[in-house]
Amino acid sequence: MLILEADPLFKIFRHQTIWLLTVLLATLAILTLVAFWGQINTWQAYSRPVFENMLGMDAEIQKDFELVRDLNERYAGNVLCGEDMLNAMRIAELNAQRLHEFSYIQDDRLLCTTTLGQVPEPVIQSGETVKGKFSDVEFALSAPVLALGGRVTGMQVKINKFQAFIRPLSVETMQVPWLQTGVYVMTDQGMTPVLQPLDVEPRAPFVEMGPNWWIDDWMWVEQYCYGAGSCGLVSVNISTYLSSRREAVLAATFFLMLMMGLVGVVVRHAHQRYMTLGRQLKRSLNYHTVDCVYQPIIRLSDEELDGCEVLCRWRNEDGQQIRPDIFISEIEKNGQTRQLTEIVLKKAVDELMSAGLFGHIRMSVNTFPDDIASGHVDQILTKIFADRSCQPVTVEITEQEAGDVSKVAQNIEQLRSRLVKLAIDDFGTGYSNFQHLEKLNVDYLKIDQSFVRGMETNALRSRLVKNIVEMAQTLGLQTVAEGVELKEQFDALKELGVSFTQGYYHAKPMPISDFDEYVKQHKVAGID
Ligand code: C2E
Ligand code: CA
Ligand code: CA
Repeated sequence: MLILEADPLFKIFRHQTIWLLTVLLATLAILTLVAFWGQINTWQAYSRPVFENMLGMDAEIQKDFELVRDLNERYAGNVLCGEDMLNAMRIAELNAQRLHEFSYIQDDRLLCTTTLGQVPEPVIQSGETVKGKFSDVEFALSAPVLALGGRVTGMQVKINKFQAFIRPLSVETMQVPWLQTGVYVMTDQGMTPVLQPLDVEPRAPFVEMGPNWWIDDWMWVEQYCYGAGSCGLVSVNISTYLSSRREAVLAATFFLMLMMGLVGVVVRHAHQRYMTLGRQLKRSLNYHTVDCVYQPIIRLSDEELDGCEVLCRWRNEDGQQIRPDIFISEIEKNGQTRQLTEIVLKKAVDELMSAGLFGHIRMSVNTFPDDIASGHVDQILTKIFADRSCQPVTVEITEQEAGDVSKVAQNIEQLRSRLVKLAIDDFGTGYSNFQHLEKLNVDYLKIDQSFVRGMETNALRSRLVKNIVEMAQTLGLQTVAEGVELKEQFDALKELGVSFTQGYYHAKPMPISDFDEYVKQHKVAGID
């Protein structure tokens, strides 16, 4: 866990994921917002005609009030309801646009109406009224009409002694089940509904201000105040609305789930891509989070320490150590070999220098044949060593894939001019082309560990090692036996005249601090 937290790659991964998730969530949020905005536009398409109707009604009603006021003027005093008054009331009704069924009230008794004419028995008016913004106008809110036996209720407006019904709004949207409309006016009792009261309350300020909407407890409310103290309200019951749009809601839910699924797939894909070996390696190489370990190489003649082979170690972002053969083949596949060589070489030089070992012992580094052929290894050495001598460096070239041999041979000469020594690694494996060996001007042959393994008991292997050693001697090359694990192997190799040995018998590859200790406890051969 500590490794993970300390690993900058892990932080980068987390950072990238958070970034990706933020983008996706922001997209979803924007989509939701757009959908919501579209929804509000739909609701407004319903509310606007209602408001227009209300505005029209307000203007018309005010004109109608004048007709009622005229009646009051004409029949001032305690006049009884006669034919003349009834005619005047009927004419007013004909001229009125929003008021109908005019009636005449004296001392809280209804004496006549335009339809009923004179009522045989005056009807006592007992309903509550509220005062509107004009001091002479009162509203009777949904009161039962006693003149009709109380069976009918209606909204009435009363100015002095004359009263009339208000025709309700007549817009198509009134039939929409999820839509409610209401008209409120400022009365002596506050904002009072003069048409249908709603489940929602209007919101101050009620001065002339145009439309304004809000959402309250699953209700979308739009308020339009069209004069001091007169407001229209349209409300949408969102849950009723959604249930009336079941198919659309189902489709939207399906779409949202699909989106979420897609987001999930994208995130998983991105995560997997991000976590693939190649990607992780790329980040490791960019951030130089590759480690070096050092394995001693012993001079067989006097068993003194000649040098070390630098081997790289890499942990993935889960903190697991990955085998070099696995990640190195990935690096080769991704064409990052130069980068690896440069990082390993630079790190090894830095670490050996800090330990005071650089220049005292030989350091052997692994390279890739193609990078030798292309001259990149030479460039790396120039970059790292500048004017310094490369004398303590041995460059190992794997024999397995010698690539373009003539190009390799050409560049080997270039490297030699820097005093670098060269070794053929894993000698004896692959195509073991001895002709190549003649062309390549190298210093060491590293006998592959497959020959060393079991050579103490297997006569054939022992014979093969002998042949390699003899051939190397003929060519004037020194030999390094790899993978020496047992004393018997070591003794047998000594017998065969091998120059150097490397293997667990001496020590396993180790970090610089341990290697520093190891060097202190051993005699160092020194660099020739
Ligand atoms: P190699 O160059 O042949 O390195 C020797 C390998 O043998 C190392 O394996 C080492 O740990 C292992 N070894 C040493 N002594 C013994 C022993 O007594 N017994 C056994 N069984 N194994 C022993 P490692 O470190 O796993 O590296 C494997 C290969 O990966 C190396 O083989 C080399 O080809 C490559 N490699 C490692 N580091 C680098 C690097 O920095 N650059 C390049 N280009 N290749 C590297
Ligand atoms: Ca090697
Ligand atoms: Ca080897």
